[in-house]
Amino acid sequence: MLQELRIINPATEEQVAVVPVTTPAEVDEAVRRAAAAQQKWAALPPGDRARLLRRFAEVVRDNVPALARLELTEAGHPLGNAEWEANNVVDLLHYAAGGVERLTGRQIPVAGGLDITVQEPLGVVAVIAPWNFPMPIAAWGTAPALAAGNAVLLKPAETTPLTALRLAEYALEAGLPENLFQVLPGEGAVTGNALVEHPGVAKVVFTGSTATGRHIAARCAAQTKRLTLELGGKSPNIVFADADIERAAAAAPGSFLDNTGQDCCARSRILVQRSVHDRFMELLEPAVRSFVAGDPADPATQMGPLISAAQRERVRSYVPEDAPAAIRGEAPKGKGFWYPATVLEGRPDDRTAVEEIFGPVAVVIPFDDEADAIRLANATDYGLSGSIWTRDVGRALRVSGAVAAGNLSVNSHSSVRYWTPFGGYKQSGLGRELGPDALAAFTETKNIFISTEES
Ligand code: NAD
Repeated sequence: MLQELRIINPATEEQVAVVPVTTPAEVDEAVRRAAAAQQKWAALPPGDRARLLRRFAEVVRDNVPALARLELTEAGHPLGNAEWEANNVVDLLHYAAGGVERLTGRQIPVAGGLDITVQEPLGVVAVIAPWNFPMPIAAWGTAPALAAGNAVLLKPAETTPLTALRLAEYALEAGLPENLFQVLPGEGAVTGNALVEHPGVAKVVFTGSTATGRHIAARCAAQTKRLTLELGGKSPNIVFADADIERAAAAAPGSFLDNTGQDCCARSRILVQRSVHDRFMELLEPAVRSFVAGDPADPATQMGPLISAAQRERVRSYVPEDAPAAIRGEAPKGKGFWYPATVLEGRPDDRTAVEEIFGPVAVVIPFDDEADAIRLANATDYGLSGSIWTRDVGRALRVSGAVAAGNLSVNSHSSVRYWTPFGGYKQSGLGRELGPDALAAFTETKNIFISTEES
């Protein structure tokens, strides 16, 4: 077991911080403190909870530049992206705060009495976050869980605990009760596992790889513990011949290069109708080559390094930098975990076409007709996101209906809005986060029948 986490700037390979890990005994203590804080939090009038969460949002807003700098330092994200991520936390907290007073039950018609449902908080919720979007994904679970009256124990990824720790400081500064929101850095197999197995944790919200998600699901099943899983993806970007090809090609690089491809929604399988394949590739090449990789602090930079040496080895195990490629961009040389934008021409059953690489690599596969496109789009174990480019609205709706994925966009590659539901089909996950039902996912529904019969 590690004694501490050494945090490395992935753009420079310099050590920027050393963070102590949370031992299983400390997890146990944290759960007990969180349970006590949760009781008081849930007893507060809803309006007071909402006000405190709004204040938390405003403290985060005041510190967006500082949070963005931290994200740049520990995750290598370009500054503009990191600012967007910090602002996303502000929006999530405000959105969740707005839900506190709207978290209502129902009255259901019955004979001989009154039947009502009540939404009760679960208690202590564990949020286990990945390193690819450390701030937003931590907030996806934390904000609605707190708003619904729960306490949250957040376990950030080993490589990116700094923004999470800072958020916990801001929560206290905003006046949230002590121990209500605690951040517990540490290794997944030790600190994360202690949280998952702790009987005092009522729900686990896990975002990460499908393999770890399955392992956690099995541990939770042993205690019938509530669970949300946001897992991997291998999303298709389907370009029909009737689409605005210029627009589709201009959008494609961002859809698999943003966040250096370390994005569960990355459109890393580009399916192009055969009749426009060559034209699409002609347009894609300059668009990929002009996607600027470099110093994350430079405002012109669109793509930073990969998170770690290990992640770069993983990407290389799929495609070494000197392997033949249809398109290859430039990446800085020297220090930093750099990897160039890469486009392969592939076949549907290539390993690179079906497995999640989690790097700036896309595979282009031609298709013949609509049925062929749908078949290829569904030919992976994943089902998280996808894009459909067409001018035919009937086709857009038919294909959206036929592709097994939780988040599809037509003539766009955006997937995530905090006010719309997000989650995966198949091996991409279980349950939904965000959107109008986000708070309800952190409650139990209790049904109460009150007899009106005279005794
Ligand atoms: P990972 O599964 O290795 O780790 C995720 C988190 O789980 C980390 O905090 C880690 O410490 C913890 N963990 C690991 N083993 C654990 C265990 N046994 N018990 C408890 N916790 C444990 O994933 P990663 O490499 O950090 O993230 C990349 C993956 O996340 C990719 O597959 C990506 O697609 C996925 N992801 C999914 C979404 C989504 O919303 N669907 C969003 C972002 C990332």
